Amino acid sequence: MRVAANTTHGAAPILPGATLGIFGSGQLGRMAAIAAARLGYRVHIFSPDAQVPAGKIQGPAGKVQSPAGQVAPFETVADYDDADAIAKFAKAVDVVTLEFENVPALATETASQFAPVRPSGQVLFTTQDRLREKRFLQSIGIPCTQFAPVTTADELQTAVQQIGTPAVLKTVAWGYDGKGQAKVDSAEQAEQAWEQLDRQPAICEGWVAYDCELSMLVARSPSGEVAAYGPIANQHKNHILDLSTYPAPELAPIAAQAGEISRAIVEKLDVVGIICVEFFLTTEGRLLVNEIAPRTHNSGHLTIDACATSQFEQQIRAICGLPLGSTEPFASAAMINLLGEVWQQGEPNWQAALGDPGVRLHLYGKAEARTGRKMGHITVLAASTDEATRLAQSAYQALAR
Ligand code: AMP
Repeated sequence: MRVAANTTHGAAPILPGATLGIFGSGQLGRMAAIAAARLGYRVHIFSPDAQVPAGKIQGPAGKVQSPAGQVAPFETVADYDDADAIAKFAKAVDVVTLEFENVPALATETASQFAPVRPSGQVLFTTQDRLREKRFLQSIGIPCTQFAPVTTADELQTAVQQIGTPAVLKTVAWGYDGKGQAKVDSAEQAEQAWEQLDRQPAICEGWVAYDCELSMLVARSPSGEVAAYGPIANQHKNHILDLSTYPAPELAPIAAQAGEISRAIVEKLDVVGIICVEFFLTTEGRLLVNEIAPRTHNSGHLTIDACATSQFEQQIRAICGLPLGSTEPFASAAMINLLGEVWQQGEPNWQAALGDPGVRLHLYGKAEARTGRKMGHITVLAASTDEATRLAQSAYQALAR
């Protein structure tokens, strides 16, 4: 989907040769830095945690480097509340973006005095807090899960009465991959569930009976041009993304609606950059927005191999004010995440997994494999989504041989 510009708050484009700043140093920053380099940009990473434990991957000065720092020419290691370091970083770059949405307001405010921050601190303010995000969605008429705020024991009881059970409590801040969540099976058990979350401010959400989860990635440039990928079908294991497929023929009936919702969100939030909108498709056939990530997303990794323009290149085009690229897939694609578990029996059998010449392997340069840690992914293209899935699963199984 590619839509003509309809707003005009753009400035001059930031052309190849410029330096792009990225808050965060994980795999999303790494893949963005690779895409940036291909377009002739240089990347400067800013993150407090550049150190990969166990020191296998050494930088030029013998320094252990982060996944993104290994592929970017510049890396600053400092805290997000170090205003001097942020100012120095922002003065050294032409635009700042992020791969980590919980960058504190102080960092984005400080940086924006010296370079445009895309997406803006205002976008992060809305999406860093589940309650603000849900209220925003509600205010623009987007269907989302039923919710109520929980900051006191009384509010908890009221919320559970209002929402009913089963429900799920989610901390308003810092939740991801199922972290900061507790299911509420009955009103009596609500206190205990909130206790599991250390009684942090939370939202109580209705439990959704869904057929599947899906996502849309939507980029928007300063001129208002919008381009979208999706819907991408997503399957999770233990709350962590396991398998993504695209195009997803089973989602064709709701594709237009998912596109309209995502476009409304990116425009009303006034995003410059890329966002991921995650949805549930309920058993009754309704689309509900689960959450928004103001950055590239794991479910979009297959766009690197499957589409003319990857989500990472699109992010760079959007923040730099370049025309957005085609989001058309060349073929059907399946992506499987490689979590730390894959290393349980030692080094995975790469030769066996790559035995099929169509398998594309992406590793993030993390020295230590921990359970649940995203270490890499594989993508396979084929004539159909089913075939791509079968080949990706077979490559995944071959890793353990
Ligand atoms: P989240 O961190 O909100 O993306 O949630 C992580 C995962 O938990 C989702 O991908 C779903 O599999 C599950 N989940 C979250 N919220 C709900 C809900 N309201 N009803 C049912 N499952 C949920």
